[in-house]
Amino acid sequence: MNIESRLAQIGSQEDPRTGAVNYPIYQSTAFRHPRLGQSTGFDYSRTKSPTRSVLEQAAADLENADGGFACSSGMAALTTIFALFGQGDHLIVSLDLYGGTYRLLEQILSRYGITASYVDTNDIEAMEELCTAGTKAVLIETPTNPLMMITDIEKVAAWAKSKGFLTIVDNTLLTPFLQRPLDLGADIVIHSATKYLGGHNDVLAGLIMTKGEELTKKMGFLHNSLGAVLGPQDSYLLMRGMKTLALRMERHEYNSVKMAEWLKAHPAVEEVYHPALPHHPGHEIQKRQSSGNTGIFSFRMKDARTVEPILRHLKLIAFAESLGGVESLLTYPAIQTHADIPEEIRKKVGVDDRLLRFSVGIEHIEDLIADLGAAIDAALQEIEGA
Ligand SMILES: *Cc1c(COP(=O)(O)O)cnc(C)c1O
Repeated sequence: MNIESRLAQIGSQEDPRTGAVNYPIYQSTAFRHPRLGQSTGFDYSRTKSPTRSVLEQAAADLENADGGFACSSGMAALTTIFALFGQGDHLIVSLDLYGGTYRLLEQILSRYGITASYVDTNDIEAMEELCTAGTKAVLIETPTNPLMMITDIEKVAAWAKSKGFLTIVDNTLLTPFLQRPLDLGADIVIHSATKYLGGHNDVLAGLIMTKGEELTKKMGFLHNSLGAVLGPQDSYLLMRGMKTLALRMERHEYNSVKMAEWLKAHPAVEEVYHPALPHHPGHEIQKRQSSGNTGIFSFRMKDARTVEPILRHLKLIAFAESLGGVESLLTYPAIQTHADIPEEIRKKVGVDDRLLRFSVGIEHIEDLIADLGAAIDAALQEIEGA
């Protein structure tokens, strides 16, 4: 079946006893055993819970994975994945990284003897040079956020395999509707399901998808042992969001491309970073390895003084952090999402005080352009008057 149909039908045939079209919320942590040595398949809800199981199966199916694990947040999912590693292990990681992942690696995992090197993950030669005797995995974000750098997943996964490393892909921005890294050779996919999968800025969740029996078993052990699992209510909300993923992603893509093209032509804007634009360095790879574009992109203003008044004059678009919801949000990465990344690294990748990130929602494109256009005009007037 096509992915649109599978998404719309998540959980709808999983409760034959009542025929419930929406899979119920099983708010129970304990389950009766019929008799000694027997189990219904559910014993204690950290290990396995009915509502979460339906979500996990659906998620694994969408990504062509052997196992799916729902976590209490994207960071909980990353923590669970990183627990595969230990003292002396080393990871090769995308340069323009989600701030929370960088913080987890540098401020927490480093205390357990796990180190990371940050590099442009398209540069195989540079990655070769960074390898140590302890290197165990490559972690890729593609596209990265906020600069929308694209990595060739197939190429990196093949290289990693030849070295005996795992390939982990953070697929938050494209979702399995648009990109399926396991089909391109990756071993593990992680999602902040808080973003597009949930889609409504109302549920915090993470997903891990694994390929291969051994890795799936190991991840199941870590998921249960660490216990950063998703509760039944949030599992339900996430499934409800995922049912409309296809429709939402199509509108997010349409709106974000229109918005990016409009900004590209605006005289107050210096650069627009959107992989759908033909001048973007990752344009061709993105077109090959995914079936569409995400709803977020970034742009750099010519004058840093315009940023504050633009954010102040917005009426429809919210100045907020996060991304992937139906409502449009504008973020200032240097002081919000990426504040924990040292200025030196931020500057190197281009997260400076003129960069804004736009998570384009599903509103009417004309309203979004009118709102941002008016805010830019008001900002330009203010700095001219100053
Ligand atoms: C938001 C985000 C995370 C962290 O997920 P939470 O659900 O906020 O814990 C990880 N990776 C990426 C790319 C994200 O956007």
